[in-house]
Amino acid sequence: MKKIAILGSTGSIGTQTLEVVRENKDIEVLGLAAGSNVELLEKQAREFHPRLIAVWTEEKAKELRARVRDTDMKVVSGMEGLIEVSTMSDVEILVTAIVGMIGIRPTVEAVRAGKNIALANKETLVTAGHIIMPLAEENHVSVLPVDSEHSAIFQSLRGNEAKAVNRILLTASGGPFRGKREEDLLNVRVEDALRHPNWSMGQKITIDSSTMVNKGLEVIEAKWLFGVDVDQVQVVVQPQSIIHSMVEYVDGAVMAQLGTPDMKLPIQYALYYPKRRYLPGERLDFWSLGRLDFEKPDMDTFYGLKLAYDAGRAGGTLPTVFNAANELAVKQFLNREIKYLEIIEIIEDCMKAHKNIKEPTLEQIFDTERATYERIESRR
Ligand code: NAD
Ligand code: MG
Repeated sequence: MKKIAILGSTGSIGTQTLEVVRENKDIEVLGLAAGSNVELLEKQAREFHPRLIAVWTEEKAKELRARVRDTDMKVVSGMEGLIEVSTMSDVEILVTAIVGMIGIRPTVEAVRAGKNIALANKETLVTAGHIIMPLAEENHVSVLPVDSEHSAIFQSLRGNEAKAVNRILLTASGGPFRGKREEDLLNVRVEDALRHPNWSMGQKITIDSSTMVNKGLEVIEAKWLFGVDVDQVQVVVQPQSIIHSMVEYVDGAVMAQLGTPDMKLPIQYALYYPKRRYLPGERLDFWSLGRLDFEKPDMDTFYGLKLAYDAGRAGGTLPTVFNAANELAVKQFLNREIKYLEIIEIIEDCMKAHKNIKEPTLEQIFDTERATYERIESRR
């Protein structure tokens, strides 16, 4: 039996991870953690029988404890609870499907405890990749990508020498506003931005996909996962989301991974790597597909992507500013407190005002996050 724990089990990646577990009989779920959806957590707990469950607030933990009183499951809360789930003895793989920088501490502690990481939580790597990747090497643990593009790159790298890589071609759907100009985006409503053409995902990443900030985060994520410079990562718009990403080698060969858009493939691949397993679902039908299209990303309209390259190139605390400003701005947009285009204006403003710190410690990363939030709050 493969033993796993999941941070963010009630979300889009979390529930799809549990679908993969359901379809395979040899994975045991020892721990679950989620924010506040105790109803779904109870359902998951009764189906998968974890030993430990974490919810964010103590109030919700009390509610869940009452719900699972008839079992011997332990319910914990807060950051301590998240870390307890991340470091459970016997767990081999921690699936980080939590959203945002809140995943940093639990991921670091899991790596220290020798757990392999199936990483969906890209914000953690964007902000603390310089700490997590060397720590993973030191502790002989693998950081396996769950993000579909990075899984595609990871698959396209197999069997080839890392030093023969010339460029990474990171594909992007272009999101719901592909082809639009800035003047078309002035009055974008939350509902419009939440309408992704190809993928059904959590709200935050769906907004990020519409602004191309998600692709920017993925450029920096690729830098850490694959040890390349951000300028070796070229974004290629592939509107059908069939090519999940590609690697170009020094001899000009390009390796790619294609498939129908289904996150269960990268999730399952990370859980069973290096093995491949049967996965039910639609297969690619090239006859009905007919064609694949490619475009250059529009970095003038979607200049959040350009800001991500700036942040990734500079390193230090600048990617934290980029990410933290985006996290809060997206929250404010979802709460209808700011306009759509303000998301990127806020990120740019915070980056301009920031004095970069090279090789920041975790404390300096959290201080930067706090300072970024304070700057944004003071705009109101
Ligand atoms: P989601 O919003 O659907 O789910 C987030 C999960 O995190 C939920 O279970 C929520 O309860 C949990 N969570 C949030 N705050 C928490 C807290 N304080 N304590 C404990 N749990 C908390 O998000 P998602 O779409 O599943 O995305 C998760 C991560 O995976 C993100 O980093 C995202 O960028 C990445 N990702 C998602 C997809 C996708 O298809 N959804 C694809 C690639 C990468
Ligand atoms: Mg992705």
